[in-house]
Amino acid sequence: MSVRVRLAPSPTGTLHIGTARTAVFNWLFARRMGGSFLIRIEDTDRERSKPEFTANILDGLQWLGLDWDDEPVVQSTRIEEHRQAIQTLLEHGLAYRCYTTEEELNALRDRQRAAGQAPRYDNRHRNLSPEQEAAFQAEGRTAVIRFRIDDGASITWTDMVRGAMRWSGADLGGDMVIARRAPADAIGDPLYNLVVVVDDAAMAITHVIRGEDHIANTAKQLLLYEALGLEAPQFAHTPLILNAEGRKLSKRDGVTSISDFRAMGYTAEALANYMTLLGWSVPEGMEERFSLADAASVFSFERVNKAGARFDWDKLNWLNAQVLHGWQAPQLLMALSPLWQAQGWTLPADQAWQEALAELLGPSLTLLNDGIEQARPFFIEPDLEADALSQLDQEGARPALAALNALLESAPWDGCDSERGQALLKEAVDQAGVKKGLLMKSLRAALLGRLQGPDLMTTWGLLARIGHDRQRLQRCL
Ligand code: GLU
Repeated sequence: MSVRVRLAPSPTGTLHIGTARTAVFNWLFARRMGGSFLIRIEDTDRERSKPEFTANILDGLQWLGLDWDDEPVVQSTRIEEHRQAIQTLLEHGLAYRCYTTEEELNALRDRQRAAGQAPRYDNRHRNLSPEQEAAFQAEGRTAVIRFRIDDGASITWTDMVRGAMRWSGADLGGDMVIARRAPADAIGDPLYNLVVVVDDAAMAITHVIRGEDHIANTAKQLLLYEALGLEAPQFAHTPLILNAEGRKLSKRDGVTSISDFRAMGYTAEALANYMTLLGWSVPEGMEERFSLADAASVFSFERVNKAGARFDWDKLNWLNAQVLHGWQAPQLLMALSPLWQAQGWTLPADQAWQEALAELLGPSLTLLNDGIEQARPFFIEPDLEADALSQLDQEGARPALAALNALLESAPWDGCDSERGQALLKEAVDQAGVKKGLLMKSLRAALLGRLQGPDLMTTWGLLARIGHDRQRLQRCL
C-alpha cells in the first residue's frame, strides 16, 4: 500500500511556522516512502476562512519547496458526505440529537467548576424517548448532534513518535458534538473531528502526521473510525515549537508566519532546513546544514523527538548565512535586485556590475535584507558618519586623497583593471608621503561615508565603473 499523507490547514490565517513544520515532516515522510503528499483546505469555518489565506498558505508551501501531489481538496465541497456520515451514525444509534440549551450547558459547567471538576457534558440527552424529543421540539428547541463516547472505552494506538498511547473514554469530555446546532429536522454544520475522519478516509490517507496538540482529537477520531466502519490510519504526533522561555510559540513571540520570515530576508532553503531540525535530529555523520532532498533520503520518525523544540534564532540565522554564503553571484543578484528596486534605486544597466556588487556583499549577509543597507552607498551618495569624518581629519588624510584625485584627473580609472587601481594608490601614497593604510582607510571613509564595508579595491572599482568615485573623493578634500 503506498503511503499517502496530507496537510490539512485551515485558511483562517497566514501559513504559521507550526503548520509549515508539520508540512515539512509530512513532505519528508512522503518523499522518503515514495508516497503522496496531499493538501486539504479545511475551510468549514465559513466566517474566518478567507481565500487570501488559502493563497498565502499554498504560496508559502510552494516557496519552501514543499510540492504537493494532486489538486488540493477543498473541505467545504464535501459537506454532503460529512452529513451522510452523521446520518449513518444517527441511524445506527451511535449519535443522537441533544437539545440541551446553551444556558443549561453553562449552568452545568458552572456547577462542575464550583465542585472542582473538569467540565464535561453529562450525556443527559443520550437516551431520550421519542416523547421527550417531541416535547423539546414542541418547545422550539434546536439541537446539536452528539457522538456517543462510552466512559469505559479504552482507546489505544501506537504513535510513530510517542509509541504506545492509551486514552480512556472518560477523559474525552462526554459525548462529542459532531454537528452544530440546527432545527431538529436538519443536520447542522458538521464539525472538525467528524469531517477530518470522513475526509482522511475518502482521501485514503495512510498516515496522519500533525502536532501533538491534536492527541486528544486522535483518541476521539479513532472512535469515529470504528463507528463508521473505516480503517484508521497510523498517527505521528510531532512536538510543539516552543519559545525561548519554553512555552508554546505564539503570535506574542513576534514573527510566526512564513511570509513574515520571507519578508525579513530568510531564504526558503534555510527556513526549511531549520524547521526540519525543530524536532528531528540528523543521523550520525550528517551535517545540520542540508537540503530538503538530503533530509528526505534519510528521514524517519525514529529520530523525531518527543520533547518540545525550542526556537533558536541564532541557529536559524547561522543556517541562513550558510545558505547565502553558498550562493553564486547570479542567484544572489536574483534575490537582491528586487529588494534594491523596491527601495526605488535605479540599477546600472550593466548586468555584470550588478552581479559583481551582489558577489561583493554576499559573504557578509546573514539575512538577504542585510543587502539593502550594505548596498545603499553604491546607489546613493552616503553622508559622512562621525568616524569617517574624524578619519578624514587625520594628519595626511586629505593630502593623500588630493594626490589620488589629481592622479585620476590626469588619467581616469575605469574601475576594471585592479592592478592599475593598486598602482594609483601606491603612487598617491608615495606622493603624499603617508602610510598606505592611512590612504586606504580614508578612501573607504570618502567612498562609503563609514569605516566598515566590504573589500576596498572592489568597492572602489565598482564605484569607478559607474563614475561615482571622483565626486565622493572631491567632497572630502
Ligand atoms: N485543520 C486542522 C488544523 O489546522 C487540521 C488538523 C489535522 O491535521 O487533522 O489544526
